[in-house]
Amino acid sequence: MLLTVRPALAAAAALVMVCLLASACSDGDGGGDGTVAPTTSAPSTVTATATAAPTASPAPDPFASFSNNVEVSIEGDFVVLRSDGLPGHVSPYFDPSDPRYAEYDGDNPQFQQNPNGIATQTLVLRVPRDPQPADQHQATPLGPIGVAVNGVALFNQYAGPDQPLTNEINSFDQCDGHPEQQGLYHYHLVPDCLLEQVGADGLVGFLLDGYPVYGPEEEGAAVDIAGLDEFHGHSHPTREYPGGIYHYHVADEAPYINGDGFYGLPGTVER
Ligand SMILES: [Zn+2]
Ligand SMILES: [Zn+2]
Repeated sequence: MLLTVRPALAAAAALVMVCLLASACSDGDGGGDGTVAPTTSAPSTVTATATAAPTASPAPDPFASFSNNVEVSIEGDFVVLRSDGLPGHVSPYFDPSDPRYAEYDGDNPQFQQNPNGIATQTLVLRVPRDPQPADQHQATPLGPIGVAVNGVALFNQYAGPDQPLTNEINSFDQCDGHPEQQGLYHYHLVPDCLLEQVGADGLVGFLLDGYPVYGPEEEGAAVDIAGLDEFHGHSHPTREYPGGIYHYHVADEAPYINGDGFYGLPGTVER
């Protein structure tokens, strides 16, 4: 009996070997993956032990996400964000002599450029270093309610006191921003131009209360907006905050960035 089993096992083993060899050789990608796998798994165990041993800061510094037109500093309990407010992408609102000028090439047939032009700003936002939920949630003001990682001001979902953006939307350029009368360029909704840079699930900025704003996707799928609270956020770990944090999510539909006010106690903005 044993003698008959052994050859059968040996034959099965041989078959497995043949299959492995065949699959390894048959497709170039598979073979490539097969040879890469051991080398990638080896460093990953090294980094795993390396991150476990020291106090470990594998998470990227969230404030390192800002482009270099934003100066980041710490003042007491606040992170101070000083921005020139200029978008790092093209706009028809730059002066035509400016290399960043580009004619409107978006997909809104009703686009109508407003009379304002982009001007360099001195935008200073002081946001809490350690954001905390507010006991009483404040409504967002008109004007800057936060700043994107590219230094562009974030505005709320209103064109004026309780006025929807209906008409104002037609003056949004191809990157969904426009300048107000003082030349402050801003987004009421976060554009693909920025999401292409940070990723659809990336960190797009901060609101004045110090809580981060993330893109419209999470773990490869669109965030379920219905699952967000009235401020347009929820809490769980993120790449930058592995311990978990409250955060807002942007969406294509109103209220776009923030819902019914700040989740946390807002800092200040000067300009
Ligand atoms: Zn506006
Ligand atoms: Zn989330």
